[in-house]
Amino acid sequence: MVSFEEAREKVIAAVRALRGPLATETVEISRSCGRVLAQPITADRDYPPFDRSIRDGFALRADDAVAGATLQCIGEIKAGSGFDRVVGPGECVQIMTGAAVPSGADAVVMIEHVSFDGRRVMLSRSATRGQSIVARGKEARVGQQLLAPGTRLGYAEMALAGQVGGHRLNVFKRPRAAMLSTGDEVVEVSATPGPLQVRNGNSVALETLATLAGAESESLGNAPDEKKELRRRIEHGLEANLLIISGGVSMGKYDLVEMVLGEVGTEFVFDSVAIRPGRPAVFGVCRGKPVFGLPGNPVSTMVTFELFVVPAIDVLSGASPRPLPIFRARLAHALHERSELTHFLPARVQTVRGEPEVSALPWQGSGDVVTMAESNAFLIVSPEKLNWDAGEMAFVLPRRGLL
Ligand code: AMP
Ligand code: MG
Repeated sequence: MVSFEEAREKVIAAVRALRGPLATETVEISRSCGRVLAQPITADRDYPPFDRSIRDGFALRADDAVAGATLQCIGEIKAGSGFDRVVGPGECVQIMTGAAVPSGADAVVMIEHVSFDGRRVMLSRSATRGQSIVARGKEARVGQQLLAPGTRLGYAEMALAGQVGGHRLNVFKRPRAAMLSTGDEVVEVSATPGPLQVRNGNSVALETLATLAGAESESLGNAPDEKKELRRRIEHGLEANLLIISGGVSMGKYDLVEMVLGEVGTEFVFDSVAIRPGRPAVFGVCRGKPVFGLPGNPVSTMVTFELFVVPAIDVLSGASPRPLPIFRARLAHALHERSELTHFLPARVQTVRGEPEVSALPWQGSGDVVTMAESNAFLIVSPEKLNWDAGEMAFVLPRRGLL
């Protein structure tokens, strides 16, 4: 059985080997959040484009910037305005944040460090050459690559692209993820279930996770636990860029997914991972497409999607796989697990005295969506250390979008 880290590596390697050239499209920058750049973004001019004051204050010659000196103020410069005189010895110009430092001046003294009567400026502190100025080109030179193809666009990347004139961006098309749930007992969320049926919560989770991860999801509905129909839906699903199936991969008599996947020619990369929940997770390649069989218990489905499907979506999106954003938080209570598996326990992280603190939530196992929805993270407990005291620094994986 592979560890979850090994399983992720295997997914990444297998999907990289499959990936051909990716189709691209052009989108408005305002619609590009989460998309992956297919083009480089380069500086259209120097940044900053002029020597920029980063303080409200007075521009002057550094040689004059001595505590106690009194200078003559010869004008003012707003952001966006020019100044056509040269600042001479003994002179200064009132300047605003974001304005261009006038010629002659080579330092800015903050307004907090002067007294000003409207004409004369008395310095209460000295300043050095270049103080409170970002010189032209210091952030970037014209023509310099600022964002490489393969960069996933978040708000800062979008702001940068917009700032350098990239208002329409060439991005990779999102991979299409076909989603198939399975189980005779599963009915649509809009249906009224019979006493022994369950509504298809997984289809909602899978589509949402796929969207959050950057894929387009395509629902194939729910397949019964019956080989012929399962096979028909799986073959349909293989027309997408990747196929994600929930349920039917455990040891039960009606867990047919792995068998049918084998019959349609899947080469399995792994068919169980040393984690709980999620141990029966299956990954393989079928007709050039990555295929996942995720266990149907809702928490298992969610954990295995986060761990294994997200990196596959990253690679198919043209991006490099995001690292798992695991961090450490102080454990609010003692914890004892007994297992050879790495546990992902629904947990809640909160800030206590300025530090993250994590508590595992009491739960009823991997079918317990009620507790799952109270969590904002998973507490990770691996076989290397199964006994934890309160106050130790435990490992935590945030839930996508919640921390
Ligand atoms: P399975 O992985 O098919 O053995 O299913 C494990 C458990 O998850 C069973 O209790 C199923 O009823 C439940 N389950 C399977 N698929 C879904 C689904 N799509 N939505 C909600 N629960 C499900
Ligand atoms: Mg089932």
